[in-house]
Amino acid sequence: MRPFAYERTNDLVQAAHAGFQTGAGQTDADTQFLAGGTTLIDLMKLDVLTPRRVVDLNPLTAQHSAIEVTASGLRLGAMARMSAVADTPDVARDYPVIAQSLDLAASAQIRNMASLGGNVLQRTRCPYYRDPSWTACNKRHPGSGCSALEGVNVNHAVLGTDKSCISQYPGDFAVALVALGAQVELLGPDGPRVIAFDTLHRGPEGKPHIETTLKPGELITAFQVPAGAWTRRSLYLKIRNRQSYEFAISSAAVALDLDGGVVRAARIGLGGMAYRPWRSKEAEAVLTGKPLTEANAEAAARAALAGAVTHGGNAYKPELARRTLVRALLQTAAMEA
Ligand SMILES: Cc1cc2nc3c(=O)[nH]c(=O)nc-3n(C[C@H](O)[C@H](O)[C@H](O)COP(=O)(O)OP(=O)(O)OC[C@H]3O[C@@H](n4cnc5c(N)ncnc54)[C@H](O)[C@@H]3O)c2cc1C
Repeated sequence: MRPFAYERTNDLVQAAHAGFQTGAGQTDADTQFLAGGTTLIDLMKLDVLTPRRVVDLNPLTAQHSAIEVTASGLRLGAMARMSAVADTPDVARDYPVIAQSLDLAASAQIRNMASLGGNVLQRTRCPYYRDPSWTACNKRHPGSGCSALEGVNVNHAVLGTDKSCISQYPGDFAVALVALGAQVELLGPDGPRVIAFDTLHRGPEGKPHIETTLKPGELITAFQVPAGAWTRRSLYLKIRNRQSYEFAISSAAVALDLDGGVVRAARIGLGGMAYRPWRSKEAEAVLTGKPLTEANAEAAARAALAGAVTHGGNAYKPELARRTLVRALLQTAAMEA
């Protein structure tokens, strides 16, 4: 780990200004914020992130970790710990997909440390990104190439990639947020703003070192999930290589509003498959107005993966994603809501 300056702040505006002097992208940013540290410290030890300054947000925890369930929706402070949200009975009852996406992630110890803001900004687990001895990684070194294209890409993305980067977004919570049409509250040196969660993470667009649309110094302060007739009948299905303490190789966040057996509205997110948290409006459109039969679920799953591009090792992924989604849809339809 390289030397860095450490600061603590209990003033959000000061924190935003402290983060202002950053590099061009998130990976080479001069200043990083410290929340739980479970991504940041790992990557600093690996020499992947090399900030000159670390601004500790933990003095802000009390002010920015509220968990509020109201008639208009769910609002979650960015410093709330993953376990605190997953264990809140109102969240588990009214937004099961949110609670499950958090509860099925990482380990109990990590969930107790890790914040929601840090969670959505966690970095890819691509081995070529996490190991600086690989010289070709456009996410670490813009313009150096992508080792995964011809390398070991068994768990790389099949949706939303380009030739500059095929790494996969690894988080679970973000998949639930994108499915439910969440919004993110931000505070930066220019003041507050609210954006659609779907616009927080960028596609690679030839510049995968720029991972989000956050402006320099901008902090996530909260997440808003709008209330909807579908949120109670929702679930997160996570498929992984072992049952616990493992990232998804495929996942689906599904929420359904049913009239009898007929789909009034569907909200669908896919994880373990895409470059960024992925919502499939194509699959949602296939289901809307139709009975939720196995055949219709399969048609929706085919639509969700129609644009998949594989690179050898990950050729199994589209079929796995289709099966994950079909199972998630049928299980969600069978829920009592
Ligand atoms: C062994 C292991 C297994 C894991 N398994 C899973 C899993 O199965 N599923 C899953 O989803 N995750 C998993 N994770 C990832 C884990 O959930 C994240 O590391 C964690 O959520 C990050 O939160 P944090 O508060 O520790 O972030 P930090 O490490 O403190 O910060 C991460 C990044 O976010 C930035 N940041 C933090 N807070 C803010 C804010 N409010 N505004 C702006 N920027 C901010 C920091 O600058 C930094 O770049 C795993 C991690 C480990 C180490």
